[in-house]
Amino acid sequence: MLHISRLTHRKTVSSLASSSRLLRRWKSSSVQDAVRSLKDGDRIHGYTVKRLVEIPELMTTGVSLEHDKTGAQHCHYAREDSNNTFSVMFRTTPMDDTGVPHILEHTTLCGSQKYPVRDPFFKMINRTLATFMNAMTASDWTVYPFSTQNQKDYENLMSVYLDAVFYPQLRELDFSQEGWRLEHEDPNNSESPIIFKGVVYNEMKGVFSDSVNLFMQAVQNKLLPDHTYGVVSGGDPPAITDLTWKQLKEFHHSHYHPTNSKFVTYGDIPLERHLELINNNYLEKFDRINIDTRVPLQPRWSEPRTAHITCPHDPTGTEKQTTVSANFLLSEITDIFESFTMNIICTLLTDGETSPFYQALLEANIGSDYAPLTGYQDIMKEAVFCVGLRGIHSDDVNKVKDIISVTFDKVISEGFDQKNIDALLHRIELALKHQTGNFGLNMALNMASVWNHDGDPMVALQINNQISQLRQTLADNPTFLQDKVKQYFKDNKHCLVVTMEPDKDYEEGRNKEEAERLERHVSQLTAADRKIILDTGKELLANQMAVEDVNCLPTIHLDEIERKIKSEPVEAINLGGISVQKCAAPTNGVSYLRMISNLASVSDDLKPYVPLFCNVITKMGAGAHDYKSLSQDIDLYTGGLSAGVHVKAHHTEDKTYEQGVTFSSYCLDRNLDRMLGLWTDVFSRPDLKDNDRFLTLVNMTAAEMSSSVVSRGHSFAISHSRAGLTPAGFLQEQFEGLTQLELLNGIVGGEPESVFKVINKMEQISKCLLNKSNLRVAVNAMPESMDATLKSVEGFLSSLPGDAVVSNYLTKDTDYKVKETQTQFERPFSVNYMGKSFLTVPYTHEDFPRLRVLAKLMWAKFLHREIREKGGAYGSGAVCSDGVFSLFSYRDPNSLKTLEVFDEAVKWLCRGDYTHNDVDEAKLSVFQESDKPVTPGNSGMMLFTNGVTDEMRQTMRDQLFQVTKKDITSVALRYLKKGERSNAVSFLGPANQKVQEDQKWKIIKS
Ligand SMILES: [Zn+2]
Repeated sequence: MLHISRLTHRKTVSSLASSSRLLRRWKSSSVQDAVRSLKDGDRIHGYTVKRLVEIPELMTTGVSLEHDKTGAQHCHYAREDSNNTFSVMFRTTPMDDTGVPHILEHTTLCGSQKYPVRDPFFKMINRTLATFMNAMTASDWTVYPFSTQNQKDYENLMSVYLDAVFYPQLRELDFSQEGWRLEHEDPNNSESPIIFKGVVYNEMKGVFSDSVNLFMQAVQNKLLPDHTYGVVSGGDPPAITDLTWKQLKEFHHSHYHPTNSKFVTYGDIPLERHLELINNNYLEKFDRINIDTRVPLQPRWSEPRTAHITCPHDPTGTEKQTTVSANFLLSEITDIFESFTMNIICTLLTDGETSPFYQALLEANIGSDYAPLTGYQDIMKEAVFCVGLRGIHSDDVNKVKDIISVTFDKVISEGFDQKNIDALLHRIELALKHQTGNFGLNMALNMASVWNHDGDPMVALQINNQISQLRQTLADNPTFLQDKVKQYFKDNKHCLVVTMEPDKDYEEGRNKEEAERLERHVSQLTAADRKIILDTGKELLANQMAVEDVNCLPTIHLDEIERKIKSEPVEAINLGGISVQKCAAPTNGVSYLRMISNLASVSDDLKPYVPLFCNVITKMGAGAHDYKSLSQDIDLYTGGLSAGVHVKAHHTEDKTYEQGVTFSSYCLDRNLDRMLGLWTDVFSRPDLKDNDRFLTLVNMTAAEMSSSVVSRGHSFAISHSRAGLTPAGFLQEQFEGLTQLELLNGIVGGEPESVFKVINKMEQISKCLLNKSNLRVAVNAMPESMDATLKSVEGFLSSLPGDAVVSNYLTKDTDYKVKETQTQFERPFSVNYMGKSFLTVPYTHEDFPRLRVLAKLMWAKFLHREIREKGGAYGSGAVCSDGVFSLFSYRDPNSLKTLEVFDEAVKWLCRGDYTHNDVDEAKLSVFQESDKPVTPGNSGMMLFTNGVTDEMRQTMRDQLFQVTKKDITSVALRYLKKGERSNAVSFLGPANQKVQEDQKWKIIKS
């Protein structure tokens, strides 16, 4: 489960709208028409319609209703989108640090009346086509959302969710497992010491060992100290052990009640159906209760305050470990226009290379980055603005405070750069139209806080009204934004400066507190208590090992899944000798451009530098622009220009692949020529001469990649294990694996002069790639604007340097020799990330769909249990990709033992120790993954990037339906059984004696 601990949800203005998935623009929607016939006061299934709201910018019609008997609130968003979303939210406002809402969220998912199984979300994975399932706890709400494209599945999931929240079992055993308990270190050994255990208890100990979390928690608690925001809703470990089972049940009784609930339904399922299910199965069984969970306003201070906290000392870091920030309490988030304005102002203050605080704070080179929470925060009843620096010297605290105050003064007297205001409003407009991700889900989550405090979520979604109101206000009063800066930041006394400094004794202090608290508990235990502790410990252990019957949970069956793929309307044309794929789709007035430049002509010694080239080429200067002015124009006219490496194994031929660089961008139709003009500058006159800027970008790239190793260690392990098996795998590892990281670290740690040599390589690469030879292009646009779009693109292509050459884009490496390797990357981690890969077959081979199903089966029925539940690793998995099959583990306390589990898993498959039903469930997971909605901007990309046609996808789908248990066993014997096919192992982890003693292993230290 994801726990949003208070202010961690950083939301910028454009994310208000970033989720738009607008499906139809040119015809009126029958889904919306269906609710438009409703009138205020209409009664439906126990609800009364309160009002209807049109939200044209999101192609949505909203209906708000109230449940008559209980007072439950409901917002329905009718929209032509089959990815329907449901969420139920409760206002959860704790008044102590015991973490009761957080522990309740955990125990709610330990089984309900109708579905008495632990962790129903995990158990549903093989029984649903959900595009999202989760639960989240914030400082004043708890929400349970899901989304799916299948109506029966929707009703199944709604039943599981509603039963969980309204009828959870909340057994005492669940409380002690998820919350806290006293237990013997070894539950079976009454001689071992009694200690504190519990999922949330340990989770929160982990959360507060991270100084970023400590800082964020302190800002919230100390800036709004007088009510629910003054406590730790996730739970502070010293206080968690005060919570009782009875208090937990009482909190559920008063807070998870329909009277305190808010429902969102979204998509194309009729409103009546939602209301009928919710009312008939749950709400009508409840009566209204008398409960007031409203949060009062924070009394305002007459003088600014300061706070000082300490955090763990980082022994590997420098002496610059101090963080300082200034934090201001702003207006109520339910004042929609004021919030919109302040969100704009705070974004202008801190966001992007030309913003006042970026220039004043970050470019002063005092600290490593902005302080946590910097920006506008609107997840509490009143909004907050934070700005500061982390990674500073303790002597520099006052310097940072001075810079902050001087910067506000400067903005108050000079105002904002009009170009930045225009770029921000443009970004909001584009984000409304550019369709990404899961629209309904993002809408429900983005609106959660406003609605939680009884603001109007539908008015908040009418962003065009807010933009025009702002434009009008600015026209009437040109100093409007400056006046607000003065009001909220210069004259506002409710301001808190928080400083955090490392304390070498911090951990010791926490440990001492825990030891004393434990002693207090243990010293009071009677003999009878001790017996209960021993018995409960054994009972919990037995419970965890027991195999549960999950057949009470609803499921989707294979015959309820669509047999036909959704075909994609693409056409291949030729513009001035360059092959172009055009795709007319309802993009809502946005044009998408992708170009792949083949890099087969780049020499082998330059190739490793191509990823770095991609990282810098649109961030340096170009044409008449320096990097700042280029970045400003990119924001003014486009959704960003990006470049990335492209290595794809061929769908049919062995040892064959495409290697290239992808250039991609999108823009509003009216800005197409501006966007193409920026690409012309980048292609024709890239400026790689600014050494300082280049060095900054190299440092950032290396730092980002280094810090991703801990969170993506398994990807690096898999990537390295694939590298010896196929030529595409080899190149992918060079580009995106640990080999690339070593190269970057070499540049960063090398002599300053060697950077010039690297810049020289960038220039050579740009000569090879930035021209129209070996270029192919894809364009997605609205049908009615396609002709104009193509005409502009043709003009742009003809302006590029070089000659259009029609050639074979594929590289075939017939001499490639497979290498079976065993490699450890020795790292100072406490856990391992294991990866093992087997050579298999390409996408169109008949065994490929069998291996895809096998991967899901192997994970769900074997690896998860052995590696996570028994082995104690955080995660594990099996992945079937082009030509290679890989197994991995994630944050794994074991290393060689996990490799044995991999072997056991293969033997288990070869023996056929699973049922036909298990195979069907595995197929369902494959469909769940492959049927994720494709946005209009991404339509046709399987063909453009992978060469996979509609026919190939239909064949794949047909074959997936046909996979049998016998097929699974036979591919396991043919590809995975020991000695059958080449394989390789790579892992990241701490020094390992057994590996060191075994000659077969190669150890790479860093
Ligand atoms: Zn949790």
